[in-house]
Amino acid sequence: MDRDAILLTPGPLTTTLRTKLAMLKDWGSWDADFNAVTARVRERLLDVVHGHDSHVVVPLQGSGTFSVEAAVATVVPRQGHVLVPDNGAYCKRAARLTQMMGRRVSVLPAAEERPVDAAAVDAALAADASITHVILIHCETGTGVENPLAEVAAVCERRGRGLIVDAMSSFAALPIDARSVRFDALVAASGKCLEGVPGMGFVFLRRAIVDACAGNSQSLAMDLHDQHVYMGKTGQWRFTPPTHVLAALDAAIAQFVEEGGQPARLARYGDNCRTLVDGMAALGFEPFLAPEVQAPIIVTFHAPAHPAYDFKRFYAAAKARGFILYPGKLTQLETFRVGCIGAIGRNEMQQAVHAVADTLREMGIASGAPAL
Ligand SMILES: *Cc1c(COP(=O)(O)O)cnc(C)c1O
Repeated sequence: MDRDAILLTPGPLTTTLRTKLAMLKDWGSWDADFNAVTARVRERLLDVVHGHDSHVVVPLQGSGTFSVEAAVATVVPRQGHVLVPDNGAYCKRAARLTQMMGRRVSVLPAAEERPVDAAAVDAALAADASITHVILIHCETGTGVENPLAEVAAVCERRGRGLIVDAMSSFAALPIDARSVRFDALVAASGKCLEGVPGMGFVFLRRAIVDACAGNSQSLAMDLHDQHVYMGKTGQWRFTPPTHVLAALDAAIAQFVEEGGQPARLARYGDNCRTLVDGMAALGFEPFLAPEVQAPIIVTFHAPAHPAYDFKRFYAAAKARGFILYPGKLTQLETFRVGCIGAIGRNEMQQAVHAVADTLREMGIASGAPAL
């Protein structure tokens, strides 16, 4: 069928026709029309976190990880020491990239099935005065667990340490208010809950720390301070911008605002998540996380215990029915993941559950129940 499959993946995700059509235009990167799009997108991004008084936002070319790396390179001095509470795959990635950039890193191990404990972060900061910054993954996309941003931000503020937040999979869906939650840097990207296409990230930098970031970055391309200063002077990106991606993001943000902004998006994703979990439960599937710690972004399900189950076949059969699933990311348990984000609603989630039911029948699996 000549129709795109529904992407049940946490970016890239299904986008609207209007967002796709916004890419059918060539832009000159020095042109005033394009600079106006950059300026508008930056304004509206600040609206999302109520950050106009406290923060600037700096866009950067590349996938989301590029912006996480840039945030660390820009905000953490070379002699800095970063604490990473680790309850999943994206925490491990943040620790690794920080270490590879030559900053000292300490990892605070935590259980994958639970949110990070703010009291444990507090104790780790109390025990080691050399820690300058904490990196928190807001929604750990590896499992789908929501980490306590406000609590960890309060701990960092009280102890006088910096906070870098990877809000890649939560920004624009879960509430983040820069007026009440203090962070030095918060990172997100075009192709997640704003429902744009992938290709650029953006980092909110706290105004009070921006000047002190000059010279921290060991990388030219990753230097957000330099990008910020240059953009301030010229209205332009330093190097070739992802023009089509930005135009798509501009269109996606217009639709986000029309839909009702973050509360409306959270409501839709919450409905998607409930529809999915309830429908899958009727087929015997069990989510990895307890409902109270599950963010409505991505759901990890245990693999069925049935001997005929095989993820590759399961994936291919669901794809043949028009739905793209996502592999699991846990090291100890066999799982798969289903995203709740993108330009999809209850109908698509119900259809996805039907596709899974049909897939199980084809594979001769009577129930999705795991071996617990
Ligand atoms: C998507 C995501 C990223 C970025 O991943 P890329 O593949 O580089 O776009 C980073 N952190 C989290 C929590 C994510 O969900």
